[in-house]
Parts: sequence; C-alpha cells; structure tokens
Amino acid sequence: MRTYAEVLRGLWTRVKESITPEVKELAESFGYRPYMVARYVELLGGLGEVRELLEAFQSPPPPTVRCNLLRAPSCGLLVERLEGLGYSLERVPWSDRVFVVGGRGSVSLGATHEFLLGWYYLHRGPGATIPPLLLGAGPSDRVLDAAAAPGGKASFLADLMRNEGVLVAVEVSRARVGVLRSNLERLGVRNAVVERMRAEAVPSVFGRFFPRVLLDAPCTGEGLIGIDPLRKVRTSYEDLIRSHERQVRLLVAALNSASPGGAVLYTVCSIAPEEGEAVVAEALRWVPGARVVRAPRLPGVDPAPGVTEWFGVEFGDWARHCWRLYPHTHGTEGFFICLLEAPQ
Ligand code: SAM
Repeated sequence: MRTYAEVLRGLWTRVKESITPEVKELAESFGYRPYMVARYVELLGGLGEVRELLEAFQSPPPPTVRCNLLRAPSCGLLVERLEGLGYSLERVPWSDRVFVVGGRGSVSLGATHEFLLGWYYLHRGPGATIPPLLLGAGPSDRVLDAAAAPGGKASFLADLMRNEGVLVAVEVSRARVGVLRSNLERLGVRNAVVERMRAEAVPSVFGRFFPRVLLDAPCTGEGLIGIDPLRKVRTSYEDLIRSHERQVRLLVAALNSASPGGAVLYTVCSIAPEEGEAVVAEALRWVPGARVVRAPRLPGVDPAPGVTEWFGVEFGDWARHCWRLYPHTHGTEGFFICLLEAPQ
C-alpha cells in the first residue's frame, strides 16, 4: 500500500490543475503562492469563503494572556493590574483563565512586573490555549509533552495539574530547551522534567509510561499567516510533504509512548490537511488499535470538523471527530486538533 506521503506527492498535478485564473488572481492580490489558495478552495468549497479566510489572515489574532495560578494570587487581580496599565481584557468563553487583550498599555505585555513575576503566559493568539484543555490532565497524572518549547502548552498543563504528578517536557532544540526552562522557571512549574531529546526516542526510553500525551508538532505554520505573513510564500509543496513525514514519525512515537488506552492529543498550528488528517491517517496505519475519539466540548468553541477526503483521497469518517479552527470563523489562529486513544 502506498503511504499518504506518496499519495500526496502524486496529487501535485491535480493541485496544479486546480489553479484556475480566478485562484491565481486571488493568490496574487493577497501575495500567496497560488498552490496554497487552490488548496483552500478545495478545503472550504468556494472562492467567497477563501477570500474571507485570506482577509482574516491579513491581521494577527489578538494577543492572549493566560493567567497562571501557580504564581498569580488570582486572575481577578491580574486583570485589574493589566487594566491599570491601560489594557482591556476580555475573557474567552472556554476558560476563566484566558483573556484576549486589546488597547495599548504603558508597558509592553512581555515586560510588565506581573509578566516577570510569572503571573501569566503571553500567547500569540487565543487558539493555543485550547489543546491543553482537551487532554483532561489533572493532579497526580503522568503527562508527556512531546514537543514542548517554548512551553506555552506545557506550562498550562502544569497549572491544570496544580504542580502535582509528573510532566515530562521533551524538546529537541538546544536553544529552545533554554527558553523552555526559563519559561517554566518563571511560571513556577515544579512538576516538570525537561529532556532534550528527539520525541521519536521516547518509547524506547520510557516505554508506554504516559496516560496522557500532547504532541504540538512542528509544522509549516499555515495557521499563523496573520502573525508571520512570510508564510504566504515560504513553503513549497515538497516542504509541506516533508513536514507531513516528520509529523507522522512524531505521532507514531507519541502513540507508542502512551499507556494502553491512554489519550494522545495531536495538534498543529496549520490548516493544511497534509499536516492534519493525512498525518493521523498514516499514523493509524502504523499503530494498529489506535483510534480517533471525540474531544470534549468546550463552551463557546464550535469547531469545524476535519475533512474526510482531500482531492479525492479518502481519509475516513473518523476525521469528522477532529477539529479545525479558522481565523475567519473562530477568531483564532488556524489550528488542527485531534484526540486519539492509544491501543490497549
Ligand atoms: N508546544 C509548544 C508551545 O506550546 O509552546 C510549541 C511547540 S512547536 C509547535 C514544536 C517544537 O517541536 C519546536 O520547539 C521544535 O524545536 C520541536 N521539535 C522538532 N522536532 C522535534 C523532535 N523530533 N522531537 C522533539 N521536539 C521536536
């Protein structure tokens, strides 16, 4: 059987053929590589909605403050202090600790007294706070964050675990491990063990030790175009497929690190099905008995379902249980999120 990477490489002609004059014009007017826009038409079904997506990607999502109860006396006091500096904070519906920030403060959000005290983590958008909430980690858990730097999600997990149990935070990049450590330190995380290693090696070192695993995989960032407009042109189709191949290796390792029946949350800040559903589809082939499950609902989050088919390639009905978040409909960064259960 051909791998999904082989199938996706074979789709290139089909993708190129779908670059109609209208697609080309739209891509040019917003400054994208045309193949990207052609794929968005396949994803969203029409040029009208694609235009809305591209317009939403013209501006960054709102900076987002996640109140860190490992350090902050209360989220109410944090809000009061930041509003005192001139910011306006609006709570998101899915968590009483997460606030989107508006206005201009007298001190930048990454340099306030409260930031240095570790009262909050500054996320680039609100969507990044959703995956840790879906993993269901609590005190006394054993949790693996398989791609942890700079630590936004790991520190949220530690907060949800109330600094109890064990959080193993794995990161391959030496430079990024430094940032991860200093963020965890600032935020008062004491239940984390930081390991500089490749996540692919976790199963052979730890075995199936973790009832809960988060994999926020490295990706092309096709959901972060609003934050980094260079991503409109940076990624070739071949880069995308290579990213898919790396994500498959990481997701297979994540599933093989989870305890029997354990929860594995796979997420990428990308709207590319090549990095979303196609990765899950390939990993399911490599880890027999693993399956996709429904993620718990979160107040005020109405995700789009994953795609079951892509340019005629079938993934499977399970993909409906995965989540897609888009800037034009959800007001977040673009994200793919999928909850899996490891084999028994
Ligand atoms: N979860 C992080 C957060 O919320 O702050 C962001 C993770 S970022 C999307 C992906 C990370 O995976 C990067 O820091 C990258 O260096 C790391 N990475 C890439 N390949 C890896 C590998 N083979 N094993 C472990 N980490 C890896």
